[in-house]
Amino acid sequence: MTNNNPRNWQHDAYDYLSIQEYEMNADHIEYFRSVLNEELDQLLTKAELTIAMLTKPHENEVDLIDKASSQANQAFNLRIRDRESILINKIKESLVKIDNNEFGICEACGEDISWGRLMARPMATKCIKCKENEEKEEFRKGH
Ligand SMILES: [Zn+2]
Repeated sequence: MTNNNPRNWQHDAYDYLSIQEYEMNADHIEYFRSVLNEELDQLLTKAELTIAMLTKPHENEVDLIDKASSQANQAFNLRIRDRESILINKIKESLVKIDNNEFGICEACGEDISWGRLMARPMATKCIKCKENEEKEEFRKGH
């Protein structure tokens, strides 16, 4: 009997295999496509809510204290929206990669991104080694 439920794949030995070794087939690609689409839908719904909140007129604008706190709230919402829009773009990029048969390939070294990494983070564009190197580099630059 084969394990046809993609949600179970991450619990087995395939965790440690690269996609090539696992031979990612059309079903797997479609699984990642649906996961990415689901996440995109959720983020877009959330983004719409944030924008609705930002454009809603504030009732207590006359009160200076309330005004200050509502501005702080807006800044906070904008920061969240920034993070979300970065994520939204990443997911869109991953969906384009799926269409171009480039999904699961590291942008930096061209090697396969491991199966376990894609299961945990389907929008990953770099393999774990390149990601770690990048983070070390950023850490060095920031200090
Ligand atoms: Zn890499």
